[in-house]
Amino acid sequence: MFDQLDLDDELCKAVADMGYESPTSIQTLVIPHAMDGKDILAEAPTGTGKTAAFLLPACQFLLDYPRREPGSSRVLVLVPTRELANQVFEQAKAITKYTHLTCGVITGGINYGTDRETLDGHCDILVATPGRLFEHIEQESFDCRDIESLILDEADRMLDMGFSSIVHQIAGEARWRKQSMLFSATLEGRGVRQFAEELLKEPETISA
Ligand code: AMP
Repeated sequence: MFDQLDLDDELCKAVADMGYESPTSIQTLVIPHAMDGKDILAEAPTGTGKTAAFLLPACQFLLDYPRREPGSSRVLVLVPTRELANQVFEQAKAITKYTHLTCGVITGGINYGTDRETLDGHCDILVATPGRLFEHIEQESFDCRDIESLILDEADRMLDMGFSSIVHQIAGEARWRKQSMLFSATLEGRGVRQFAEELLKEPETISA
């Protein structure tokens, strides 16, 4: 049950509202290690509950260590597509609904004015596609200095789509992070393991 994972009541109540009765296997395996602050390398295809597996410990961390002064986003989730960005954003909003935590989404295809409003709002959790986020970093409309947790979702697809170099540059900007998590449908082939070696520190490797 979720209440055995040391998550705050606000998060347990939200997942109950979402219809989640008990954690899926990837959630049971990932959440305790992630809450210990370990880097995570997880093989988890879509449909396994991978999104909540990274969002719940990330939210718990933000609740355990509230920020002392206003700043930029503390959790950055990079995803390969706009569609996935919006799905992750919707789940993040649902999971945080009983907390003070705020969420935002930045993707290509949306006008820059809307992005500016999102970025000016200094959301705690930012979900983004790499290309558009990197434009904001270059234009100095987004600062990675406050990012404490970097999450790469569907990393195999990000590599297939040619985002390797941009993701490395964003990870370089977010160099003060305390934790990184990489989720991929597969860890075989297509350079995922090397990508993980470059971005993660002594990760806990988990398969759903
Ligand atoms: P994901 O693999 O994160 O894309 O999740 C696949 C689907 O499973 C989504 O519709 C989630 O809302 C749902 N889901 C995630 N965790 C659970 C859970 N513990 N119990 C029931 N459904 C879940």
